[in-house]
Amino acid sequence: MNGLGIFRGLWITFKHFVDTYVEDLTYRGKRYNNPKGIQCRLKGDTRGIFTIQYPEEKMPVPEEFRFVPFLVYEEGPNGEKKQRCTSCGICAKVCPPQCIWIVRGTDPNTGRPVPEPSEFYIDVDICMNCGLCAEYCPFDAIKMDHDYEISTADRMKNNIYDIDKLSKPVSYYASIRPVNYAREVAARAEKASKKAAA
Ligand code: SF4
Ligand code: SF4
Repeated sequence: MNGLGIFRGLWITFKHFVDTYVEDLTYRGKRYNNPKGIQCRLKGDTRGIFTIQYPEEKMPVPEEFRFVPFLVYEEGPNGEKKQRCTSCGICAKVCPPQCIWIVRGTDPNTGRPVPEPSEFYIDVDICMNCGLCAEYCPFDAIKMDHDYEISTADRMKNNIYDIDKLSKPVSYYASIRPVNYAREVAARAEKASKKAAA
């Protein structure tokens, strides 16, 4: 019986080996390093090799995939950045491992607090990618990123993200989460029209 099992295993391996070349010929060399080829290997009924050859190739991630958070800023007509964050501190309060630090900004003339952060840090090694900060933010100012390639050799130097490293434009957010972005734009428009009508 053991001999038969080994033979069956070898037969399956051999079949995958031959199928890989057959599929490669069917796709005329376009089975690797392009989105169509990757989609073909992700299908349940794919034949031959089905592995994705990371890092040369990457699996497409679904919209709701989440890695570390980032801060969303609006882009002004002259390239100026306007953080959506008002430094309300809700995200820091709800963060289970407490890996968010925020310093509220102050008006340089009056010294009074202003609704924007002067500093914002996230320790991305402690972050557990739960997404609660993004869920609770009332201003859609913090969102979960898709970028998972953040390995580094120096954690203390590179993995405590400051406001510059955390900030990304709203256009980036719209590109990685188009459905969420469209829903939020529609909700804001509805709220604005109700306010105008009242
Ligand atoms: S990211 Fe959102 S929840 Fe966090 S401080 Fe800024 S506005 Fe408040
Ligand atoms: S994703 Fe979760 S753990 Fe990470 S900063 Fe947000 S609330 Fe904290």
